[in-house]
Amino acid sequence: MRIAMIGTGYVGLVSGVCFSDFGHDVICVDKNPAKIEMLERGEVPIFEPGLDALLARNVDAGRLTFTTDLAKAVKGADAVFIAVGTPTRRGDGHADLSYVMAAAEEIAHAMDGYTVVVTKSTVPVGTNRQVQEVIRGAKPDAEFDVASNPEFLREGAAIDDFMRPDRVVVGVQSDRAADVMSEIYRPLFLRDFPIVTTDLESAEMIKYAANAFLAVKITFVNEIARLCEQVGADIKQVSKGIGLDGRIGNKFLHAGPGYGGSCFPKDTRAFARTGQEHAAPLQLVETVIKVNDEVKRRMIDKVMDLCGGSVNGKTVAVLGVTFKPNTDDMREAPSLTIVPALVGGGAKVRVVDPQGRREGEALLPGVHWCDDPYEAAEKADVVVILTEWNEFRALDLKRMAERMETPRMADLRNVYSSADVKEAGFTAYAAVGRRDDL
Ligand code: NAD
Repeated sequence: MRIAMIGTGYVGLVSGVCFSDFGHDVICVDKNPAKIEMLERGEVPIFEPGLDALLARNVDAGRLTFTTDLAKAVKGADAVFIAVGTPTRRGDGHADLSYVMAAAEEIAHAMDGYTVVVTKSTVPVGTNRQVQEVIRGAKPDAEFDVASNPEFLREGAAIDDFMRPDRVVVGVQSDRAADVMSEIYRPLFLRDFPIVTTDLESAEMIKYAANAFLAVKITFVNEIARLCEQVGADIKQVSKGIGLDGRIGNKFLHAGPGYGGSCFPKDTRAFARTGQEHAAPLQLVETVIKVNDEVKRRMIDKVMDLCGGSVNGKTVAVLGVTFKPNTDDMREAPSLTIVPALVGGGAKVRVVDPQGRREGEALLPGVHWCDDPYEAAEKADVVVILTEWNEFRALDLKRMAERMETPRMADLRNVYSSADVKEAGFTAYAAVGRRDDL
């Protein structure tokens, strides 16, 4: 199959590289020339474990190329995937579809011969039909089908998720398009990964319903965590106890500083908006959005409380700013709420993150960047663990404590126990969902 992948972000680049590894001929397109120049030099513009080696292998095999020329990539392609961003539209919470529609129009002008135009971006129900209208409007005689193929990969584990998915969802409206999609995903089908074939609307809905469900699950646990703190229960034990129930499952039951990232915040907002527009309000989802904001703000109180009610004049070491480990993505990370509040409260904030600095420098003004956690802890009054990178899971706690002015820790990812930190010389400790008196 010949595939054009429009957009080389976290989803487009990983999908393009993996499709080429399946044996397809893939041309990845981006309108950002700096990204394409990097890719042509063999450099990967994002941090995603394993991506550089897989990319190099497929470039060497002659199956994977990069261009800014969308028309060149689309000509002769069997399938054109749209993997551009769908951020929140300013003002109303809806998904901004302008990048998708602009790409659809450009694709229409370049198409020659039967083409399946596949939306991989996360788009609200009804968008694929709009894409179809845009293409028909731009090129009335075009021979094409649209297909919805939402992506479920997680940053940090993206290649494995793509190569070994829980399922692939394909929404189609013709057998011909279904055949093209089956051919593209044949290597997964042959290895028995489930392919769920649906109509267009159901495929679009599956993506939002899945993300909303996960956001509900994690927010539920965060709310239970707060109650645990009040009544003296331990959320880790509670999560284990409920997660062993097969109907519930043990994933997404870790209490923390609230969800963030490039998907859950924007997708829950867009989904809630869709519900409102169709007179079927998603009240649970709307509440989750509100509760998650409160969860993030509660983390600020936790740090303040550890410092006796105020961080004014205090030095705070923040370990981790990306929204989760193993990515450089900072979009809607809890750090973007918590760190500015600490700076605004008069704290000197010393930050360390294995991959977050490149993005984070512009997003977190007024902080001092450090190279390692021990440097960040120098003369600090409190250390805050915000992202559970492996580097921060195995700290030499004694070494940390010795460098601090007052060894206190806000462990917002529940990495340590009060016994661990007490033994290392910490004098105050706060986790999430547990009462930890040292
Ligand atoms: P991203 O912002 O990292 O990448 C989007 C890319 O598209 C950018 O490089 C941009 O320059 C390019 N682009 C925009 N318009 C273009 C055009 N007309 N022609 C060529 N290139 C164009 O976004 P992302 O994180 O990869 O997300 C893409 C979509 O996938 C979104 O809808 C997102 O919700 C969805 N998604 C993301 C994830 C994730 O973990 N990031 C997971 C599942 C689904």
